[in-house]
Amino acid sequence: MTTARRTTRTPVLDDRFAVSLRGLDVDAETRCVHYHGPTDVVALRFACCDTFAPCHRCHDATADHPAEVWPRARFDEPSVLCGVCRATMTWPAYRAADHACPVCKAAFNPGCSAHAHHYAEAG
Ligand SMILES: [Zn+2]
Ligand SMILES: [Zn+2]
Ligand SMILES: [Zn+2]
Repeated sequence: MTTARRTTRTPVLDDRFAVSLRGLDVDAETRCVHYHGPTDVVALRFACCDTFAPCHRCHDATADHPAEVWPRARFDEPSVLCGVCRATMTWPAYRAADHACPVCKAAFNPGCSAHAHHYAEAG
């Protein structure tokens, strides 16, 4: 696995990922310059541009528009990416997964829950 970090800004996408993704100093498991602990391996999709980012600060730093959180009306669409196995899941599935990937069991940072309002409507 490569440990190379890459910054990708609008309109370019990070071509290491199958989904549309941008961020600052992103590693191959979606850690970023802001959140780079062992369990910071989740990327979130933003409704404004349908693009994933490792965190909302990455979105704001690399997009040319304000962030729009994921709306309740789209909770049946995948909006969370596991950077370890690259599986995507819906926001409710992520919230129900108890801080681990439902597919590969990689641990997710429990602290992210405190920032949920940056990423999705309450629900
Ligand atoms: Zn956006
Ligand atoms: Zn970030
Ligand atoms: Zn996973």
